[in-house]
Amino acid sequence: MELRDKDITYCTGVGTKRAAVLRKELNVQTALDMLYIFPYKYVDRSRFYSIREITDEDAYVQIMGEIYEWKTVGVGKSKRLTALFADSHNDTVELVWFHSTQYVKQECGRYLLFGKPSFFNRSISFVHPELTPAHKVRPEMCTGLEPHYNTSEKMKTSTLNDKAIRTIIRGLLPDLRLGIPDTLPAALREQYNLIPLTDALLQIHTPKNTTEVQQARYRLKFEELFYIQLQILSQAKNRTMKSRGFLMPIVGRHFNDFYYHHLPFALTGAQKRVIKEIQADIKSGRQMNRLLQGDVGSGKTLVALICALLAADNGYQTCIMAPTEILAKQHMQTLSSLLQGTATHVDLLTGSTTAKQRQALHDRLRNGETDILVGTHALIEDEVQFANLGLVIVDEQHRFGVAQRAKLWAKNVQPPHVLVMTATPIPRTLAMTVYGDLSVSVIDELPPGRKPIRTRHYTNMFREQVDRFIRDQITEGRQIYVVYPLIEQKKDKDGNPLPEESGATLADLQNGYERMLRTFPDCTVSMVHGKLKSREKDYQMQLFAAGKTQILVATTVIEVGVNVPNASVMIVENAERFGLSQLHQLRGRVGRGADQSYCILLTDVQLSKETRKRMEIMEATNDGFRIAEADLQLRGPGDLEGTQQSGLPFDLKIASLSTDGQVLEQARQAAINILENDPELVAPEHQMYAYQLRKLKNKAQNWAEIS
Ligand code: ADP
Ligand code: MG
Repeated sequence: MELRDKDITYCTGVGTKRAAVLRKELNVQTALDMLYIFPYKYVDRSRFYSIREITDEDAYVQIMGEIYEWKTVGVGKSKRLTALFADSHNDTVELVWFHSTQYVKQECGRYLLFGKPSFFNRSISFVHPELTPAHKVRPEMCTGLEPHYNTSEKMKTSTLNDKAIRTIIRGLLPDLRLGIPDTLPAALREQYNLIPLTDALLQIHTPKNTTEVQQARYRLKFEELFYIQLQILSQAKNRTMKSRGFLMPIVGRHFNDFYYHHLPFALTGAQKRVIKEIQADIKSGRQMNRLLQGDVGSGKTLVALICALLAADNGYQTCIMAPTEILAKQHMQTLSSLLQGTATHVDLLTGSTTAKQRQALHDRLRNGETDILVGTHALIEDEVQFANLGLVIVDEQHRFGVAQRAKLWAKNVQPPHVLVMTATPIPRTLAMTVYGDLSVSVIDELPPGRKPIRTRHYTNMFREQVDRFIRDQITEGRQIYVVYPLIEQKKDKDGNPLPEESGATLADLQNGYERMLRTFPDCTVSMVHGKLKSREKDYQMQLFAAGKTQILVATTVIEVGVNVPNASVMIVENAERFGLSQLHQLRGRVGRGADQSYCILLTDVQLSKETRKRMEIMEATNDGFRIAEADLQLRGPGDLEGTQQSGLPFDLKIASLSTDGQVLEQARQAAINILENDPELVAPEHQMYAYQLRKLKNKAQNWAEIS
């Protein structure tokens, strides 16, 4: 039976129970799927360490030595088994087992120890190390590169650990050696110097040396990125062929009046450039699909307004969508004050617009009186009809799902131009992969006169200092944010993440709030979280925005867009639970006024290496792009949890968007060449591509189309 037809259940070392876990956790159905579970690293088992050589840079080490004592310590839940292990220099480490201790033979003697060192104070310990009695150590165990596989918590509890995965995969190799059909035609392989699939899979799981690993990785990465590019580009081609766009060539009175008489400050160079790029799009005759990236505070709102004015000059309406009611209202305020004294008309539609207001609004929209409509999701659900909707601007794109946007476009016969604005910078490689041929504009310059935010990381031991700092800032008239992490995120009926949800952290939040009240008895404190009624949330936010409360304790409700220039301190609690880009977003809430602003990241004392790295990056830079790159790099492709969190529409099993930019460019070029001559992939020599694409399509949805 071919490997791709062989059910994983019947592979050596699997069985019904393990198969169920493999299916659920790794989406492995067949023997071939199993071979696509790639090692995330290799450990050189030819090297032996002595204990004094170990540093915290070493992920895994093996040591030959002697166990001279076994002990069971603690009671109940903290009960554990420990052993003392010494090497030839008589340096000692502690070995620890927390559960499954009945499987450990508690015998003293010589062992080969293999495991992951953990450091506490000055001493080193090994949790659940692999022990092989010295007389059972065979030479082949300690040669060459040993592959290591990622496993989830669930897998570990069903004894599907790293070693078990390795054993299962080894069991499949004899069949693999007989050869499997390739997924790339020989001609393409030759052109790009790619080894055959069979060899690649053999080499990735049992490499003789690092060259073999590199060859295998390159071939597999290329294949992965190539098919994603082929898919995205062929869809994008279909789209551009179909979509004609509204023509907006005129620069008229809406724009000119605002630009020459009401613009409160000079545009930055970056704002000007981006506006020109957009202008070129909307007079091209094709529908615009543009992503506008600009760090928090870079002035995207103004760009949105100017584009809306251009649309108005050509007789088209614009709608600007914000992810939350608070933000929609804030946009409304900003726009109406900017447009005061002009003839441009803005309206607001949110969930709390009354039926009566709505009626009047509908009339104004239908008869074209409204030039710009600002709104929330209500805009999509509502039976609003535009006279002539020509431009849709979506603010903070990550909060809107594809399905939601599609509904809005459905309000038109011809799709409007689309501008998606995001403050979460997307590295170039990622943008290319996720959005295919989507055009990207970048505002890479902040308005003049901003003071860079100072960021410091403190552990909980330094709470008192932090409190004192808060006190000083409040005395100087500043306001303070205190933010708690969100643990679970609820989804709406379309499967899109809801704007905010505090869930399991509510208790923490409540405690934090009470602590603030106790520590600063003479201050007023607001609290907002996702479980509050929208009216209450708004009320609390307004109190803070108006300077009536000094401290705002919140969940990530405030992550997006809220603008309170007098708030100059952002305290992030449990900062270890936030990803880099989220921390950066949070930090962007301060630094909006003339005063020096601060961001304080509070964490536990014990931190993983990765968390410490995250904190260091936050302290080191304010640049959103550098942070996004670092974020990608910290979450490697092999990191199970990482890929899930990154929000990618597809699983990358081996390629890394952070480090494989070059492979991506090559794969993309290969895909472009093929599609150029045969956009529908109908040529006989392209049937292998068409077949693979159909397989891929069943798995992923189409993200190339943002409209
Ligand atoms: P974001 O890109 O995060 O949405 P905003 O559009 O809210 O940023 O702009 C942040 C602040 O910068 C606002 O107070 C806005 O008035 C101000 N701003 C925007 N453009 C300029 C400019 N060219 N010069 C000075 N200030 C500007
Ligand atoms: Mg904004």
